[in-house]
Amino acid sequence: CRVRVALRIRPKNTDELAQGADFDTCVELQPECKKLKLKKNNWASESYQFDEIFGENSSQKRIYEVVAKPVVESVLEGYNGTVMAYGQTGTGKTYTVGQLGKEDPSERGIMVRALEHILSSMSLETDSVAVSYLQLYLESVQDLLAPEKTNIPIVEDPKTGEVSLPGAAIVEIKDLEHVCQLLQIGETNRHAANTKMNTESSRSHAILIIHLQRSLKIKEETTVSIPSDTEHTLPGDLPLVLKSKLLIVDLAGSERIDKSGSEGHMIEEAKFINLSLSSLGKCINALAENSSHIPTRDSKLTRMLRDSFGGTARTSLVVTIGPSARHHSETSSTVLFGQRAMKVVNTIRLKEEVDYETLYKNVENEVDHLTSEMERQQKLRHREKMQLEKRLKESETFLNDLKMISSVQIENLEKEKHQFEYAVKRLMQELEEKEGRNNVLSEKIVHLETSLNEKKQQQLESFSTTQILAETTKTYEKKMGELLRELEEERSRSASMKGHFNVLEQQLSDARSSAQFQENMARELKRELSKITQTFTSQVHSLEEKISQLVSEKELIYGELKSTQAKVQDEASHRQSLEAEVLRLKRSKTDNCVEESKTLCGMVRSGSGLGSEAFMHKSGNLKETLASQRVGLPNVLALLKSEELEVQIHAVKVVANLAAEDINQEKIVEEGGLDALLSLLETSENTTIHRATAGAIANLAMNVSNQALIMNKGGARLLANIASKTDDPQTMRMVAGAIANLCGNEKWHAMLKQDGGIKALLGMFQTGHTDVIAQIARGLANFAKCESRVISQGHKKGRSLLIEDGVLSWIMANSTMFPPSTRRHIELAFCHLAQNVENSRDIIITGGIKELLRISKESSRDDARNLAKKALNSNPAFLKEIQ
Ligand code: ADP
Ligand code: MG
Repeated sequence: CRVRVALRIRPKNTDELAQGADFDTCVELQPECKKLKLKKNNWASESYQFDEIFGENSSQKRIYEVVAKPVVESVLEGYNGTVMAYGQTGTGKTYTVGQLGKEDPSERGIMVRALEHILSSMSLETDSVAVSYLQLYLESVQDLLAPEKTNIPIVEDPKTGEVSLPGAAIVEIKDLEHVCQLLQIGETNRHAANTKMNTESSRSHAILIIHLQRSLKIKEETTVSIPSDTEHTLPGDLPLVLKSKLLIVDLAGSERIDKSGSEGHMIEEAKFINLSLSSLGKCINALAENSSHIPTRDSKLTRMLRDSFGGTARTSLVVTIGPSARHHSETSSTVLFGQRAMKVVNTIRLKEEVDYETLYKNVENEVDHLTSEMERQQKLRHREKMQLEKRLKESETFLNDLKMISSVQIENLEKEKHQFEYAVKRLMQELEEKEGRNNVLSEKIVHLETSLNEKKQQQLESFSTTQILAETTKTYEKKMGELLRELEEERSRSASMKGHFNVLEQQLSDARSSAQFQENMARELKRELSKITQTFTSQVHSLEEKISQLVSEKELIYGELKSTQAKVQDEASHRQSLEAEVLRLKRSKTDNCVEESKTLCGMVRSGSGLGSEAFMHKSGNLKETLASQRVGLPNVLALLKSEELEVQIHAVKVVANLAAEDINQEKIVEEGGLDALLSLLETSENTTIHRATAGAIANLAMNVSNQALIMNKGGARLLANIASKTDDPQTMRMVAGAIANLCGNEKWHAMLKQDGGIKALLGMFQTGHTDVIAQIARGLANFAKCESRVISQGHKKGRSLLIEDGVLSWIMANSTMFPPSTRRHIELAFCHLAQNVENSRDIIITGGIKELLRISKESSRDDARNLAKKALNSNPAFLKEIQ
């Protein structure tokens, strides 16, 4: 593949145009036959053939398409390529190669167009394109994309001879805009560097290296075809990659330094510039002449372009010339350079490699996949192993269980076997015995046969006996037959016996197992039965106990019922007697005045008053009384203080009668009647007055407010005084009744006791009169009942006030001696006293427990019985005493 060389002539610049008709040109183009005529002088010229001739009007686009495009396409296919501009300064090398065309895209040079072409021809997803932009000046490589990098070394692969600059920046291209930015940066850096070094761009070589990497497989899918002459030594499924390089080189001016007006520059610099360029010329010459030695190593430029000339790259060269005859020699040398370059032949080679990176990645992925698969398998194996081990263990335990069970079964079977063997032995013995007996029978038969023979013999001897013998024989034969049959039967019987024996054996074993089972069952049932019997017996016992308890309760209730009935009868008779009394009184009432009868009824009814009959002796007296009443209560009360005893007595009697009525009581007290009565009680020595006064006070003492007045005015003391003085039972009855009424108010208990009321009450017992004793009993019952109530309500504490005055011993001595109503009052008084725990000790000492027990059982009154029981049951001291 020969190096392609095109020639481009720059249009006249302003200076040249200014010369007008005087402008002298030394070149004549013949583009149609791709020839250039270079005038030596006015008469002589020389003609040079090129691959392409571009006139001054040639467009940048055409230059690209003819010069660069084939090389770029070749690079896209995987070959290296070089496009280079060579020529005198100012002839348009940079214009041709590096023009950016920022303002006018049609002016874009080869670099921009090549990259545009490459970007549009490949996919950046699978392929990549990167650039390095370098400047070679004074044999030093500088990075135009990273200007701090200078003197970048050129490295050659000793095996492949591939040249690389690993120190240079390689920038991956994203898009065309990025390309323009990078080229602009490069241009700016080139200009800055040259300004710093006080030189011009024409003194340095600019080299753009475009690195292409393409995945071959993708290529195959697209339209790119791989040349068939390429040897594929790699296995088909290895990832292959095409790594090609395109060099676009803008060389320094090829003119001689002195001519270009660079006299001021150091000779050293010129020497270096010439070194690279002249070295390139030498190499081209050598290559053109097929010389054996190509001095590529003489300069950095030739080292970098080693692949471009005489290497494996496809190379295109543009030689640029100016039209002016003034630069004839430079133009001539440029044309000659181009002519020589055209003789250089390259051997292009596909830059194909195994994509080890992808291969490595693929292998790595595969290894990862295999590793994870292996781990998964290992886990699976492990799990399976665990499961198997578990199953093995289970099987082992199952086997052990089986072994145990079977050993037990074997043992049982062995035992059974022994038993059967024993039974068989016995049966065999029996059989043998029978056979022995059979043998004896056989022997007998033999014996009979022999005797038969003998007989036959005898038959011969004696014909006469023949007949007999014959008969005998028949008989024997018959017998023998019978014996034989018997034997046969015996045998068959023995056989059937054997069968029967087997059946029996079977039945025996069955029976044994069932017997065992039934035995267990029986044992279980027995146990259950005994349990049930026990429970039943205990239940029977408890029921019996309950029944006896119920019977005794029934008896108790029956007794109570009887006593209640008796009481009811008592009550009924009492009621009858009361009714008779009422009737009698009613009858007498009709004889007396209406007011008095009312008073009587009230007193009888109330039961706590004392009546007025004591004061009503004669109808004449009553008349006087009525007369005095008619004179008014104040007058009657005034008569209480009369000098005349008779008058006084009558007045007291009237007041006493009036005091029996509730409505009169208030008036009597209001009018100072109570005070008058009390003073009479204190001053009078007359028994009748005493009796009537005490009766009046007793009636007044039924009222609570009057009780306060009586007590506060020393009534109790006066009553006690009368009781001690008198021996008249009726007076005593009145006094006792008054005190008994006062006993019914717990408020005055203490005062009553202090004033000698209780002592007086007990003292009147001496009279022995039933009515007096009834009032005493009523008073004590009232007192004890009220006291007990106050104590039970918690308003009071301590021993009963009655005890100090000897009430308890009085009760003990007299409780059973009186008629029922009095007795009942005494019992109630005692039972109320027994409710107070503080009295317990005194009750016990005086022998009260016995009395309580008696009351609880014998008393005719329910309330007394109940109170006695309650005291006995609730008081621990009593309970202890009873025990
Ligand atoms: P060199 O790089 O060879 O020293 P340049 O590319 O710098 O030369 O060109 C020198 C001048 O000539 C620049 O101003 C450039 O624009 C102009 N020039 C070169 N070739 C052409 C062309 N073909 N058409 C128009 N102008 C050109
Ligand atoms: Mg230039």
